[in-house]
Amino acid sequence: MTTVDLFISQMAEIESLVPRQIDKKRKVAQPTFTRQVATIVGLKTTAARFLPVSHEGHSNETYVDKVELLGKQRAEFIARKLKGIERRAQMALFRELVARSTDGGDWKAFFTDKFGTPCIIPDGLCIACWNCALFGGLDAKGQAATFSRVRYFDTYSIEDTLECVAMMESEEGMGIGNQVYEDMVADKTGKGRGRGAETYHLYEYVKAGTRFPLITIIESPTLLDVAGYLHTVRRADAHGYGKYSANHGKFDTQFLAIATGYPRFSVLDMLKWAESGELESKFANRQVQFDALGEAVVLVGDEIEEVAGKLQGAFDEYVAALG
Ligand SMILES: [Zn+2]
Repeated sequence: MTTVDLFISQMAEIESLVPRQIDKKRKVAQPTFTRQVATIVGLKTTAARFLPVSHEGHSNETYVDKVELLGKQRAEFIARKLKGIERRAQMALFRELVARSTDGGDWKAFFTDKFGTPCIIPDGLCIACWNCALFGGLDAKGQAATFSRVRYFDTYSIEDTLECVAMMESEEGMGIGNQVYEDMVADKTGKGRGRGAETYHLYEYVKAGTRFPLITIIESPTLLDVAGYLHTVRRADAHGYGKYSANHGKFDTQFLAIATGYPRFSVLDMLKWAESGELESKFANRQVQFDALGEAVVLVGDEIEEVAGKLQGAFDEYVAALG
């Protein structure tokens, strides 16, 4: 058995993602609890200006989230933001896979047929589909729920903000523009606003080339969850993360490892390893520890691509199991 096959053999059955009928009308995703987990570890590098902003700005200025950590001030990329963007990216991927596997390509009809309702993030969740089975949620009436099986962690720039953030004190100074301001107004009112002199806005941003370590844990994982997650991250990278994503927040993600088991290291350890220049080699040489049910299976390099390549097959299996 290859290492990749060994990894796949420890995943839960894709059938476990099929929702159960809880009453006449409703279906709820209730994946099997297996005590197994899969951990995905990576390194995200900004490919454009990135605005990790989790607070309300003051008047016409926007500031990047920052935190003092391990002797540096670092840009902070909070787990909640990562999860929000990636949930939407996973749904976009899901709809595209549905369109490809159905005749008319109509994802809404497919969702209504299989899950009782088109699933709309965040206020009209179906709590029956693959997306809800992974990210969890409450149904629209707040009467039924499914648990989230994906755990995200806050992450921080490897580089000091003096180096990686364009701000008042830096050489570049803050960004100037009206796009950011318009997005902000649109965020609050749901509508855009005309361009004008009053839309002048100053904003800090994380510069391209800034690196953030990434750890995501999927509980009771199926192959569809893991292969889907790898594609989801690439899709979110191309779409953009951060508060104002129109032209911002694009990333390149290098996956360092996927493994069965919980990591015996944290984002903070990864920051330290980056400092000492051994981050990539530690993973490439499998010198990292995971706590799995049996012996942890750790995949690196091309093995990760091999798992990503299983997406269509895993999705076909899911559609077949939905009946
Ligand atoms: Zn759903």
